Amino acid sequence: MSNPSILILPGDGIGPEVMAQVTRIIDWFGEKRDLKFDVETDLVGGAAYDKHGVPLSDETMARAMEVDAVLLGAVGGPKYDDLDFSVKPERGLLRLRKEMDLFSNLRPAQCFDALADFSSLKKDIVSGLDIMIVRELTSGVYFGEPRGIHKEGNERVGINTQRYTESEIARVARSAFELARKRGNKVCSMEKANVMESGILWRDVVTEIHETEYPDVELSHMYADNGAMQLVRAPKQFDVIVTDNLFGDVLSDCAAMLTGSLGMLPSASLGLPNADGRPKALYEPVHGSAPDITGQGKANPIACILSFAMALRYSFDQGDEATRLEKAVEKVLADGARTADLMGPEDGTPISTTQMGDVILEA
Ligand code: ATP
Ligand code: MG
Repeated sequence: MSNPSILILPGDGIGPEVMAQVTRIIDWFGEKRDLKFDVETDLVGGAAYDKHGVPLSDETMARAMEVDAVLLGAVGGPKYDDLDFSVKPERGLLRLRKEMDLFSNLRPAQCFDALADFSSLKKDIVSGLDIMIVRELTSGVYFGEPRGIHKEGNERVGINTQRYTESEIARVARSAFELARKRGNKVCSMEKANVMESGILWRDVVTEIHETEYPDVELSHMYADNGAMQLVRAPKQFDVIVTDNLFGDVLSDCAAMLTGSLGMLPSASLGLPNADGRPKALYEPVHGSAPDITGQGKANPIACILSFAMALRYSFDQGDEATRLEKAVEKVLADGARTADLMGPEDGTPISTTQMGDVILEA
């Protein structure tokens, strides 16, 4: 049997820096755990634009459809800010999500005890926190037509359209309910049914799927603005949160700060299962390309490393090995290893990206 395959797309900014640590960890699993992967590396985002004039080549797209999992670093940066929208680095990522049909974006927000003091919130509010935000990823206002900026009279008007079909809502609801059954058996669905038609439909469809397919799971509904408030007031009331593309973007960044740093947060984006039962899957840190710290060895590689742990769990059925990796991260944090993003200005000298990789490998 051939090894499971991984396509690595380091991308731009700190993407290649954090991904370098993941590559070392993949090698470690091959050597020490006899868990071997066929790994290939390619370009995405600004890096692909520089070489090919597009943020994702057709060849790379085709490989992404074939491999068992894609690991992505980050895309974008100030160098590409003035490019036409059609070739912006972010379009490379959007194309991957759209063509792989990665409709379910899993963003865990877990508070490592060693970092509880570092959260924006009081320790007792976040310690032991373990929630999962499931964000719809392939539809909604980021994709809806019509869109654009045009002239009306003598002023410009910017337009985006929020649009959801029943089946788009149903499939992401199912993935949230399935996940809840493996966790705390609780789903909270968030929308703005008070002011948005798509919100009314969202609430209807989630309720219907719940009643007909998942009556054993506890379901609640919340307006997304209240959800944002509850997330910072009492986040431990939640287990799985399911929400649309736009609210999910905002709410998961908000949840990010509960755990201490954007540099800690992994994500998985899953599609429908292939013939072999593995879902199409892309794993990436929640953070972006962080141009302000690029090339300085400051980036925290943990978000990217934990994204690979999610790949082990969700794409390769290696839950125990995923736990092994997560425990190593937990241990080095407990031992005091800190990159700059995990420290205050008076907390001493941070370690570098590579040093964080070193201590995690050792652990
Ligand atoms: P994008 O538009 O790609 O989502 P963004 O504008 O949200 O990007 P990020 O690139 O995620 O911004 O960075 C936001 C802030 O968090 C920056 O100050 C950045 O330096 C910091 N940051 C992000 N990722 C990391 C990391 N892995 N390690 C340390 N700091 C990080
Ligand atoms: Mg962002």
